[in-house]
Amino acid sequence: MAEYDVIIIGSGPAGLTAAIYSGRALVNTLVVAGRTSGGQLMLTSDVENFPGFADVVQGPTLMMEMRKQAERFGAEIIDDEAEFVDFSVSPFKVTVGGQVHTAKAIIIATGSSAKWLGLSSETNLRGKGVSGCATCDGYFFRGKRVIVVGGGDTAIEEALFLTKYATEVIVVHRRRELRASKIMQRRALSNDKIRFVWNSIVEEILGDNGVEGVKVRDVKTGELSILACDGVFVAIGHQPNTKIFERQIELDDKGYVLSRGTKTSVDGVFVAGDVRDYRYRQAVTAAGEGCKAAMDALAYLEEQKEVTVSAREN
Ligand code: NAP
Repeated sequence: MAEYDVIIIGSGPAGLTAAIYSGRALVNTLVVAGRTSGGQLMLTSDVENFPGFADVVQGPTLMMEMRKQAERFGAEIIDDEAEFVDFSVSPFKVTVGGQVHTAKAIIIATGSSAKWLGLSSETNLRGKGVSGCATCDGYFFRGKRVIVVGGGDTAIEEALFLTKYATEVIVVHRRRELRASKIMQRRALSNDKIRFVWNSIVEEILGDNGVEGVKVRDVKTGELSILACDGVFVAIGHQPNTKIFERQIELDDKGYVLSRGTKTSVDGVFVAGDVRDYRYRQAVTAAGEGCKAAMDALAYLEEQKEVTVSAREN
């Protein structure tokens, strides 16, 4: 059993920024990085909106640099998944590869995973016209025609955002009603650049080295048709990575961690990034939250020390 002051679960921008702050405060820090260290940015190519890079930076490069920076300040990193956690008593327990590690404070930064349609053509063309993030990739579709799949707030937000760049945005939704909030619906329905293809599902994304179109099926009539386009944005929701935290901390009905600032429902357990934030979901906002969570965890450790010292003195 190894003992730490802070265990950070997750190694995206939130987790690694927390590790940089925690390590620099000379606090004994472990990062449980998961099997693919670096989080969602490892699946992105060009990143143009992370401050500090006048030229484009590749997602994996950015994450490797963050990791090296965290290691430079002494953070220990395990490239494996946390299997179980026990937050019922302090020090908290985190089991990784069958080994139990303990810490006085925990930072949850496990992020979320974009849901995908599950088509092989989607996997093959990801990063070559298929994207899960309009804020990240919309700029590459200036003067082009794009498709957004989904009918929730994310899909509509992505569609509205894409109208800044694309000549036409086609929203393909599997029902006749949108799930998105009324105000978002109104904005999209009154936008001249957005067209809706209702009751339809994408069966295949066409193209070899880039997107050329999609094959859609009308779920009412079974009719197949082809829509020509240059890009496909899949916006059918995200799944927060919180399975191991069920029954340990409070989650909302979609599985996101409920928080007040960086605090979770358990004293000493903090949270940062996409695992609690379904609204912004940006590398820079996650990094900012990682910084806040580390500062709050460090303050918590100080408070605990004072409590222990004053208990000893009494
Ligand atoms: P969501 O509300 O769960 O919507 C997912 C959409 O994708 C639904 O329209 C769903 O269709 C469709 N979908 C799901 N699986 C599909 C599949 N396999 N094939 C085709 N379509 C599929 O997810 P979200 O839009 O990401 O929103 C998540 C939460 O974040 C919501 O609470 C939302 O309000 C919130 N959010 C808020 C904002 C904001 O306030 N600005 C922005 C983004 C998100 P059905 O409708 O038929 O189920």
